Amino acid sequence: MIQNGAKKVYQHPVAVLSPEFQKLIARALAAKEVNSCMGRVVAAPTAGASGILPGTLYTLQEIHGLSDECIVESLLVGAGIALIIERKASLAGAVGGCQAETGSAAAMAAGGMVHALGGDIDQVFNAVAITIQCMLGLVCDPVAGLVEVPCVVRNASAAAIANSSAQIALARVSGVIPVDECVEAMGEIGASMESKYKETALGGLAATLTGQQIAKKVLIEDIEILPDENISE
Ligand code: SF4
Repeated sequence: MIQNGAKKVYQHPVAVLSPEFQKLIARALAAKEVNSCMGRVVAAPTAGASGILPGTLYTLQEIHGLSDECIVESLLVGAGIALIIERKASLAGAVGGCQAETGSAAAMAAGGMVHALGGDIDQVFNAVAITIQCMLGLVCDPVAGLVEVPCVVRNASAAAIANSSAQIALARVSGVIPVDECVEAMGEIGASMESKYKETALGGLAATLTGQQIAKKVLIEDIEILPDENISE
């Protein structure tokens, strides 16, 4: 379904904001496309959200000339943020909706970026709080149950939100609601979300007319592939 979207974005002659922003979006899409094509990725925190950390941190490193050590430290900060979210909410779309996957990855990225640019601990967690506030309520509704649509484009939008949150937090603009309470809100929303919005492909975009048509086609293609596989065995 994804058809080289990252490459098209990377090569497009018009940059909406700046060439750096264009690269950020292309990279977040690209890493996630590798996952959707069954390539090898680092689940950060999940395979469905695997484009956000590479997209944001690679671009940040390039723009600011940061060392690999600095980026590794930022990844560790991101891992710590994920551990906190995992304890109070969830990192899985099947448990907490897409807010738990792409939302958590964006929060990890925002905190890591603020740390990499010299932010203190309050700024790091304020970036996490702001990011979660922007991602709350996002449902998990993958078309045909495949982690492609809308997952790939959500990696790009989450990467953009991570950047806006980091920018706000670096300026010490408060998210007002403390980070622990934001994580708790994420957990509470995830717990009350209907199961059709938790990776079951029964609601949201998966339940649209087009989503259902794609699901039917995928099922038919799977059935058509089966006899050949049996013959080769
Ligand atoms: S929609 Fe669901 S499967 Fe796709 S990235 Fe979000 S949580 Fe993962």
